[in-house]
Amino acid sequence: MTLQNRVAVVTGGSSGIGRGIATRLAKAGVQIVNADLQKDPKQGERFSLPEVDLPTDKLIREEYNEQAIFVETDVSKEDEVRELIETIDAEFGRCDILINNAGISSAGTHESVSTYRWEKVINVNLSAAFYTVKYAAHHLKESDQGRIVNISSTEAYSPSGGPPYAASKAGIVNLTRKAAKELAQNQVTANVVIPGVIKTPNQDLSDDETLNEELEDTLLPRIGKPEDVANVVKFLVSSEADWITGSEFRVDGGKIS
Ligand code: NAD
Repeated sequence: MTLQNRVAVVTGGSSGIGRGIATRLAKAGVQIVNADLQKDPKQGERFSLPEVDLPTDKLIREEYNEQAIFVETDVSKEDEVRELIETIDAEFGRCDILINNAGISSAGTHESVSTYRWEKVINVNLSAAFYTVKYAAHHLKESDQGRIVNISSTEAYSPSGGPPYAASKAGIVNLTRKAAKELAQNQVTANVVIPGVIKTPNQDLSDDETLNEELEDTLLPRIGKPEDVANVVKFLVSSEADWITGSEFRVDGGKIS
């Protein structure tokens, strides 16, 4: 079954991994809804990419000739996610694929992280994936190839960042399993991709020492690219992955945790 004319929501699709996923799916014929806080791609300083200029939706329309729209959305807010799904309904009348990718980092410890930051990170990284499934589930069930792919992190198993990041990235693994159980009767699959260190604007928050340590612990010692993650996501939303659900896919160069 082809991916042509499927409609996918990619949260946080303006930059980094989300942009890589959105463009990879568009290349396979998927129509894209980029739900992000900002339309313009973030340009990181550490891993600045010369090709990062056009907003994702414009890039997709010009490069791949596929339909693509941007919907300004704060996915940590339930009302905005509900409105996002209503907009998709009005524009496309369907939603086949949900990619919960938007995420923010946190550093620190239980003692240093504020409760405000805890709630913010949990809401963006975890609650958002609950809201999108809550409001888009009926569309996914109607699709003959409903798909959910959630983006976690190796920090789900080996936390080095702050408590809310560790908790949200572990939480999304089990939330994915729960979605897989609930929706299997409707042939909707839900899987989670677990990236290691990937070259994105988010890495401006890392320091050289941390990145070097990461590389030392990685069997294939290079920093990952958004395409490394996007290729796995593309496989998971395709018909080749029809019999895969509730599973975890590490894309981390063989990081030893
Ligand atoms: P990034 O900062 O480069 O891009 C994230 C995108 O999400 C941005 O466009 C941003 O505007 C958007 N976003 C942030 N908060 C949002 C909100 N409330 N609502 C809507 N959009 C929002 O980040 P990235 O490195 O591409 O990370 C993408 C995902 O991959 C995150 O979930 C992150 O935790 C995960 N991840 C990244 C790495 C890495 O090394 N880069 C490793 C493991 C997991």
